[in-house]
Amino acid sequence: MYNMGKSNDKRDFLSGLSTSSDSGDIYSTKPEGYRSGLTKYIVITGSVMSGLGKGIFSASLACLLQNHGYTCNLIKMDGYFNEDAGTLSPYRHGEVFVLDDGTECDMDIGTYERFSNQDLSQHNIFTNGRLIKRINNLEREGHFQGGDVQFYPHVTGEILKFVRESSLHYHADFTLVEIGGTVGDEENRSYINAMSELAYEEGSGNVFFINLVWIIEASHLNEQKTKAAQHGTQMLMQSGINPNMIVCRAERQVQKKVLDKLGQRLRLKSGFVVDCHNLATIYQAPDLLKQQHVEERVLEHFSMEVKTVNSGWERYLGLYLHRSRSIKIGLTGKYLGPRDTYASIHNAIEHAATSLGATAEIVDIPTDDIEVGKIDAEEQIADVAGIIVPGGFGKRGAEGKITCINYAREKAVPYLGLCYGFQMAAIEFARSECGLKYADTTENQPNADVPVICLLPQQYEIEGIGGNMRLGGMDIELMKDSCAYKLYNGSRLLKSDGRNIIRERFRHRYELNPEYRKVLEDGGLVFSGWAPNQPIMQVLELPEHPFFIGVQYHPEFTSRPLYPNPLFYGFVKACLEAS
Ligand code: GLN
Repeated sequence: MYNMGKSNDKRDFLSGLSTSSDSGDIYSTKPEGYRSGLTKYIVITGSVMSGLGKGIFSASLACLLQNHGYTCNLIKMDGYFNEDAGTLSPYRHGEVFVLDDGTECDMDIGTYERFSNQDLSQHNIFTNGRLIKRINNLEREGHFQGGDVQFYPHVTGEILKFVRESSLHYHADFTLVEIGGTVGDEENRSYINAMSELAYEEGSGNVFFINLVWIIEASHLNEQKTKAAQHGTQMLMQSGINPNMIVCRAERQVQKKVLDKLGQRLRLKSGFVVDCHNLATIYQAPDLLKQQHVEERVLEHFSMEVKTVNSGWERYLGLYLHRSRSIKIGLTGKYLGPRDTYASIHNAIEHAATSLGATAEIVDIPTDDIEVGKIDAEEQIADVAGIIVPGGFGKRGAEGKITCINYAREKAVPYLGLCYGFQMAAIEFARSECGLKYADTTENQPNADVPVICLLPQQYEIEGIGGNMRLGGMDIELMKDSCAYKLYNGSRLLKSDGRNIIRERFRHRYELNPEYRKVLEDGGLVFSGWAPNQPIMQVLELPEHPFFIGVQYHPEFTSRPLYPNPLFYGFVKACLEAS
């Protein structure tokens, strides 16, 4: 796995690294040591509508360029004014993805990591919230030396500065910048203008613009129409950006005459308007683009060598298209419905199932309905090979989750608990096997008589909703020969000072109360993973059960198509064996 580098202090970065100075209308935004031309830029925008799949396209292009031996840095620019995605509801915005350095971001960054197989960081995500914070911090520090802070050159300049800092940080051959939303959105205007400035300052030979459009095909006409795509692209042109390539998204394959017509109207040569219609799986996207030589056109623009293509991606696609078995996996939770809410879990299951030659259908088990007796846990679970209790916050559905865990534990149904699923499993075990009838978490029962799960001591001092969680990648020490150890051994286990260490990502406030550790262990629960040198338990398991593991972290964030997370792999394998 290629690590893109880490920086541990998010605050310094947010304050705006003031390496530039302001002298009136010219605002220099080149960080110290930055040299134009070393990194080539590819800017990806979208017209006609949002939800075009710009993230998947950007990640696919990065993947293709990597296959030619080049390194890629991917940046997502979002129009929202939240500082990061940490305070966004997963129900409205899709899951909150957590990076190794603790950055909470949009699920598109998860797509970037999965497709490009690299760990990203705070240097890969920018929001209007961050932009405002940087500008305000600089202004308070007196950086603007008495001048008024203006949209041009300061706001756009700070965007350019971020992009260049990121490029300098990674020293990648390419920086791909994806502008979220749609061209014409007010929130993204500053980003588009900044990208136009980027081309002016870096030289057009160092920047390649790609606009994604939607080709409308109204059912009553049975014909693909380009007008909306033309108008949407013209809007981009009005901002000073003439795209070098148009990528046509559509329901069905875009006809050659439609591609040619759009090229003629937008003055783009054949081969620079490409088809990217909906596919059976997103993993086919790199292949479709490759067939149309998209990455070669990009490399030619930059006068860069087209090298021998080497792709692990095709191997994954091969496995994906030849899956022969199928199973059902139950996912309990409250943000059920849109797949995006648990995007990484769906992906992690898919990676594991694919490598085992199987497809896994994910069945929602709404635990709030179980709680009020509307549906029966036993009936729900009878239909699936195993269950996952995912991360979660708050009371709703918690008792329903505990009912499901109880059933899985007693009936030998494979169980994987992720974060909240670890906590709920500890509570269920305490209640059923250790005689602690009133065991609970102080998250749901602040005055619980038996607080098996309670607030982390270091969290007591932090207030507010945003930014007060234990976040990001941390080391975990595993007990030798435990189930968890056996799963991680051989792929992600590191030996350090005679210890067995893995690294996974966290996002939580509560943890197992060390006072109850012994009673749970006496009852038969094994804590097989902990924070090195600390009494913080992070993995629990039942060795006699076919598969019963709960982890305080989120293994779904580190699963990659060709490198499934070992826990998901073990869980899906157990599900296949059980069915
Ligand atoms: N609500 C729990 C906590 O804050 C679990 C969080 C989670 O599942 N991500 O500790």
